[in-house]
Amino acid sequence: MSIEIVTVACRSDNYAFLIRAGEATALVDAPEADPILAVLSERGWSLDEVWITHHHADHVEGLDGLKTAHPGLSVTGGRADAHRLPRLDREVGEGDGFQFQGHEVRVMDVSGHTVGHVAFHMAGASAAFTADSLMALGCGRLFEGTPETMWASLSKLAALPEDTVIYSGHEYTTTNARFALTIEPDNDALIRRADAVEAAREKGRYTVPSTLAEEKATNPFLRAGLSDVKRSLDMEDAGDVAVFAEIRSRKDAF
Ligand code: ZN
Ligand code: FE
Repeated sequence: MSIEIVTVACRSDNYAFLIRAGEATALVDAPEADPILAVLSERGWSLDEVWITHHHADHVEGLDGLKTAHPGLSVTGGRADAHRLPRLDREVGEGDGFQFQGHEVRVMDVSGHTVGHVAFHMAGASAAFTADSLMALGCGRLFEGTPETMWASLSKLAALPEDTVIYSGHEYTTTNARFALTIEPDNDALIRRADAVEAAREKGRYTVPSTLAEEKATNPFLRAGLSDVKRSLDMEDAGDVAVFAEIRSRKDAF
């Protein structure tokens, strides 16, 4: 059974994703109710499930409004975050799987931005919902995790099939592209992508989702282990985590 994924822009720069399969609809993250309710009613869909990636307000604040309009919906979120998330109907963690309309959804712990952040991977649909872990040309700020944790999480995501479509949580790509060019000014794929990102944003188009192949070719946070990147930072002999940490701290100051 095929699925349809609809990107919903929320708040100033958040994305939520509606996943339609058969006669059921799931939502990844609930930044704000109104734009999500608008798409649901436009399409005549009811909302059956919400899958939460992490506890930050800009990913959960819409939940109450969605529940009021769709009282039957069930909420899935990370077991490790259960104490600081709205009440969960299903708690999940690394390696857990569940079914959505016959589609297998696998849960990955992708801690780093927060400890307990999860991603949802649907191998059959070549889709990964990564929120504030792996982002388009970026990664989430390390509010709770260490560089080690985030590097391990990004490495796990990087091991998914290259054609995996990465549905991340924010439209930060223009700034991310400008920053990425400071790390790899001579990366041709990055130069081309940065141009495409600028052009897309000028037309008001979304730059999310992207593909894992694109991220591996252009995202400096995924490329911290490459000798070219290490050389451009004068860190030839440094370990991958140290290089990742250096790139992350430069981005924090960018
Ligand atoms: Zn967040
Ligand atoms: Fe966020």
